[in-house]
Amino acid sequence: MIKKMRYININNKSEVASFREATLKGLGSKKGLFVPEDIPTLPADFFNRITSMNDHEIAVEVLKPYLINDIGLEDLERIVKHTFSFQIPVKHLIGNTHVLELFHGPTNAFKDVGARFMSQCLSLFTTTNKKSTVLVATSGDTGSAVANGFAGVENVDVKILFPKGKISTYQEYQMTSLGGNIHPIEVNGTFDDCQALVKTAFSDEELRNRLLLSSANSINVARFLPQMVYYFLLYKQVHDNLKGARLVVSVPSGNFGNLTAGLYAKEMGLPISKFIAANNENDTFYSYLKSGKYLAKNSVETCSNAMDVGDPSNFTRILKLFGNHSSITDNILPGRVSNEDTIGTIREVFSKHGYILDPHGAVGYKVLQDCLKDNEMGVFLATAHPLKFKDVVEEAIGEFDSPNVSLEGCSKVIINNDYGQLMEVLMS
Ligand SMILES: *Cc1c(COP(=O)(O)O)cnc(C)c1O
Repeated sequence: MIKKMRYININNKSEVASFREATLKGLGSKKGLFVPEDIPTLPADFFNRITSMNDHEIAVEVLKPYLINDIGLEDLERIVKHTFSFQIPVKHLIGNTHVLELFHGPTNAFKDVGARFMSQCLSLFTTTNKKSTVLVATSGDTGSAVANGFAGVENVDVKILFPKGKISTYQEYQMTSLGGNIHPIEVNGTFDDCQALVKTAFSDEELRNRLLLSSANSINVARFLPQMVYYFLLYKQVHDNLKGARLVVSVPSGNFGNLTAGLYAKEMGLPISKFIAANNENDTFYSYLKSGKYLAKNSVETCSNAMDVGDPSNFTRILKLFGNHSSITDNILPGRVSNEDTIGTIREVFSKHGYILDPHGAVGYKVLQDCLKDNEMGVFLATAHPLKFKDVVEEAIGEFDSPNVSLEGCSKVIINNDYGQLMEVLMS
């Protein structure tokens, strides 16, 4: 019998939720993120057996203790099969450097894992009588993954706000070509405007009385927890080649959901020696690791724009996990890459090794090269397919083959940066 897992609001310890409640709420009161009350450890035997288990068996064992009170084993097995329906391979690049390719999902970014998992959970937790409306602002990747992950999911309507002219044609295609329960909304404004509109909606009591509003960003436990799984899949694949070497994993980071999931996997017993937090010029966490002081900044635009975050939302989860700066630096090394070096890295890795990095993966690769020692095995996460950031990659290596997408037949609603207009769309 597994102990019932409770989720605690970091900013308000008296707010306790089940997995179901935490998923439906997204964010707790006082803007607090939910965290599992304690992190279960897996038996040593699990790690001895891991190479003989299939990926779905691994995912079920890892996730079961977190949600088995709200999702039965059969449903969990079905959700896991649906979520992990594509390859997540580790490839050897050079020397002791490997890459975990997280971009083989339907929208070519790692966010597919969380979005697919969360959509199935939400569908399970809602009914035809009480549909839920997922409202999300995106600068690109989140919208694509959420649109695809939720397309056709029963009892859930999805409204995605994206800024006009700020996302790639490929990303717009991924959001606007699906139809059905997916409603893309183009805002005449910036990403910050989109985000502000969403925040206003979430604090609008009247709206919340009429709609069951859920968020699908990375603070949601149902998006965050399944991301632990691919760290175990990584370990399974390198296990036989480790031969006593210590495992170091570099994670290109923005809101730090991905890295936090890795830290949870380590707490569960996964033998990862160190993580590297790979920042672009948005280096709030990098500065924190170096100085012990956390100073949120405004974000600056870079070519790895899914990491342009000046005040990463999962920082509080990391602090909660370790308690203080010195325990954090025992587990995480700092890494930072400038825009110029990101482009230079894409160019160099392609010309020397024939491997095409996307700008986010390039940041992960570069900091790993800077930190990795001879007696270690290094793996960096390739979080998106280079195709998604074609302009940046072509700036580095020249033209490369890619399919053309057309927005013909796609549909979206266009609004100004105006809450009244958003309300009309939400109520229609
Ligand atoms: C979202 C995203 C990131 C950042 O992930 P976090 O979990 O927010 O740290 C990195 N790379 C790509 C391609 C992304 O889409």
